[in-house]
Amino acid sequence: MSAQSSQFQQLEKLGEGTYATVYKGRNRATGTLVALKEINLDSEEGTPSTAIREISLMKDLKHPNIINLYDVIHTENKLTLVFEYLDRDLKKYMDIHGNNGALEPAVVKSFMYQLLKGIDFCHQNRVLHRDLKPQNLLTNSKGELKIGDFGLARAFGIPVNTFSSEVVTLWYRAPDVLMGSRNYSTSIDMWSAGCILAEMFIGRPLFPGSSNEDQLMKIFKVMGTPNERTWPGVSRLPNYRPNFDVYIPQDLRSIIPNIDPLALNLLNGLLQMKPENRISASQALQHPWFQEYNLQGVPQQQPDLQHQQQQQQTYPQHPQQQQQQYF
Ligand code: AMP
Repeated sequence: MSAQSSQFQQLEKLGEGTYATVYKGRNRATGTLVALKEINLDSEEGTPSTAIREISLMKDLKHPNIINLYDVIHTENKLTLVFEYLDRDLKKYMDIHGNNGALEPAVVKSFMYQLLKGIDFCHQNRVLHRDLKPQNLLTNSKGELKIGDFGLARAFGIPVNTFSSEVVTLWYRAPDVLMGSRNYSTSIDMWSAGCILAEMFIGRPLFPGSSNEDQLMKIFKVMGTPNERTWPGVSRLPNYRPNFDVYIPQDLRSIIPNIDPLALNLLNGLLQMKPENRISASQALQHPWFQEYNLQGVPQQQPDLQHQQQQQQTYPQHPQQQQQQYF
């Protein structure tokens, strides 16, 4: 904690996070633009534990697709996190550059690949994000995408069974979490990534639920209502009800007509209702939709044996996609 707040000139307000205000700033010595995330400290309670978590995680998470935390400034009643500055979040990018919000397929693919790279890096380092959404994915004019806002992230070990279930923003929240599962793992982020992939194609949220119940119904109407046959164990989840309205799975192409078959195959792998069936980030990076990136030799994560074994695996298909095989 070396920096002084006087090192940075505070510019305009960029936005409000869950517990912090974000300002644009400039390093007075170097001129470098930064994002200053200011957290007011309650003198009674001391430094909020969420902030301490964010700091300890971010300081170690250095990756081209993760927002870099340059420094932490702790004054008597304020904690300022100094982040790398990026032009705008993905939501604003879609509003400005999208066709009614929808992005060009090549842009969707590039952003998705970068998102998965960042997620894979976090998961390899045993860190869940738990709150992935377009507002905390930052982009710049170079077409780079980086994951920000680790306010809710937390290092995890195995077994994973003690997290509170109130962690992911509703629209991007996985059905197992909505039904009260507490032993979620990396699959929680893969569901969110699927929702973000669909949103980039259609220009609006895929499942914009207004409450926990409404969120589940919006998901069931498209993905089908789960039962013991499609998802063994689902009826034991705390918020499961035997009298849920019964919906059959829809073809996602009826909602996302402009999606190509390979992207659709990946999306179905991400939007698996049963968490164990969801494709992992490292598997998703090897998906044939990304073939050109992988052939062009975009720098990869450190290969290891487990990684290579995972690449050989297929993942369960959406009921309507079972005929298609890309692996
Ligand atoms: P957050 O608290 O991370 O959700 O941030 C709130 C808003 O501030 C975001 O939606 C962004 O528009 C903006 N913001 C956050 N971090 C950055 C950053 N590193 N660079 C530019 N804008 C940011």
